[in-house]
Amino acid sequence: MYEFCPHCGLKYEVEPGYFYGAMFVSYAISGGVALVLGFILFYLAGDPGGWVYVAVIAPAMVLIAPVNFRFSRVLWLHYVAGIKYQPEL
Ligand SMILES: [Zn+2]
Repeated sequence: MYEFCPHCGLKYEVEPGYFYGAMFVSYAISGGVALVLGFILFYLAGDPGGWVYVAVIAPAMVLIAPVNFRFSRVLWLHYVAGIKYQPEL
């Protein structure tokens, strides 16, 4: 992740450890995805064995990790730091 915005020079990490909170956002996102996948397996695949849940959900968590990492930081920046995109600036 960039330390500063390449367009406007905004410093993203406003204080040391600022993005620790994004970890909770990331946890919520991955928990939600795992829950949805679990419901899909339960209702559409007829409640398969436990190993099927692990075989589907664990790789899905690894696959969404890069997107989840960035998206949770963006959400954290916008909703906690209150940073807004202002194209006129
Ligand atoms: Zn910027």
